[in-house]
Amino acid sequence: MVNSVVMQYFEWYLPDDGQHWQRLRDDAQHLAEIGITSVWMPPAFKATSSGDIGYGVYDIFDLGEFDQHGTVRTKYGTKDEYLEAIQSLKDHGIKPFADVVLNHKANGDNIEKFKVLKMDPDNRQVPISEPYEIEAWTNFTFPGRQGQYNDFNWHWYHFSGIDFDAKNNETGVFMILGENKGWADDDTVDTEKGNFDYLMFSDIDFDHPEVRQNVRDWAKWFLDSTDIEGFRLDAIKHIDADFMREFIQLVKEYKGEDFYVFGEYWNTSYDSKSTYLDNIGYQFDIVDVGLHMNFHTASKMGKDYDMRNLFDGSLIRENPWNAVTFVENHDTQRGQSLESVVEDWFKPLAYGLILLRQVGLPTVFYGDYYGVHQEGVEMASFQTVIDQLLFLRQNYAYGDEQLYFDHPRTIGFTRLGTEEFPNTLAVVLSNGEDGWKDMYVGHQHAGKIYIDYLNGRQDRVEINQDGVGSFPVNGGSIAAYVDESTL
Ligand code: CA
Repeated sequence: MVNSVVMQYFEWYLPDDGQHWQRLRDDAQHLAEIGITSVWMPPAFKATSSGDIGYGVYDIFDLGEFDQHGTVRTKYGTKDEYLEAIQSLKDHGIKPFADVVLNHKANGDNIEKFKVLKMDPDNRQVPISEPYEIEAWTNFTFPGRQGQYNDFNWHWYHFSGIDFDAKNNETGVFMILGENKGWADDDTVDTEKGNFDYLMFSDIDFDHPEVRQNVRDWAKWFLDSTDIEGFRLDAIKHIDADFMREFIQLVKEYKGEDFYVFGEYWNTSYDSKSTYLDNIGYQFDIVDVGLHMNFHTASKMGKDYDMRNLFDGSLIRENPWNAVTFVENHDTQRGQSLESVVEDWFKPLAYGLILLRQVGLPTVFYGDYYGVHQEGVEMASFQTVIDQLLFLRQNYAYGDEQLYFDHPRTIGFTRLGTEEFPNTLAVVLSNGEDGWKDMYVGHQHAGKIYIDYLNGRQDRVEINQDGVGSFPVNGGSIAAYVDESTL
């Protein structure tokens, strides 16, 4: 079986032209050719406006089909175009994954009155008011859809918090009061800011039985209508982990164990992610934020970064089979909420480390592949080197790996192949001066000549009797050597 690769097929600054599902549909063949095996599609739900990236979600039963919030289509196109893109991916053997935004709802249809406590935004356990009545946009009736597919109406008591009091024209973190109300239990959400259940907009209360039922109804409808093959779960550190565990269990019972699910648990500490994986019973994988932050730091520090520390605190080291690895995403790119850009010179090294190693499910970011063209937040395209690395991943990155993370500035690793994929690979990276690494690629390759497929080095490395080659690398660069006779 070939190595899997996810492509995150969007970035923050795509044009609001409704053409993206068509671009994806037309790109499917190319994606299959370069070795992409699944695509993480952006959120398809009707959100606050046509230009919304999709995370300000309004109606999860409207995939660009009804005239709501001034638009039928979403930023990416219509429901029909979404379904066409999904079908096109499948026709080319690529699994489509949906971005699922369940934490909150935005821009309700009507105002309701209810009681709240105003909470300290930096410690949501601490009230900074007595109970009082506010008015807020918590009633969702979806007038443009008129009950098609589902006639559930949302009210204030289906939410745990809100950020805007329309009565007093005041923003803040307001915790909704009532029977069985309050934030999710501390041990089911991230504990940053005291209790991080609340993120933004109208925060959904997953303790409410009607909410749980509606989300289950939605999942069945969504899976039946789209036949999607996986989920990417948004903002899971703000959602009751017990609910998520049960919910994904149900989804997998319905769609089968091959249905792939991963979540974004944005926390740089390894311990909190480890606890979360325990809490969800390893029902799904999570993204390796620690590794991304190490890439970011290494790219900023240059030769002063100790490359032996690149995997410290990463999921890929501690829970390698639950880690979804990435270099950049829509939140880390320039101008975004979690901005932590990996500098250009380090991008090929970072992609080499996620695409060629044995562990983790790697993600290629649309913005890194095609570049970001918005003025002021531009990012370069790394299409050429990513294509080369994907080729190596498809053809050379198999079998056991040997790590040579033994020098502060020059590190390397080899892949020793399998019966099905007998080619071997030697990768060496430097963040300082030119360097080299003596590495084992297999006794059976003695006498063979290895060359750098990434073309930075012109050396012809002969493998000695012990199966070891001496592989050079340019400063601040990555080289990946393969047997030239296999090319
Ligand atoms: Ca929440």
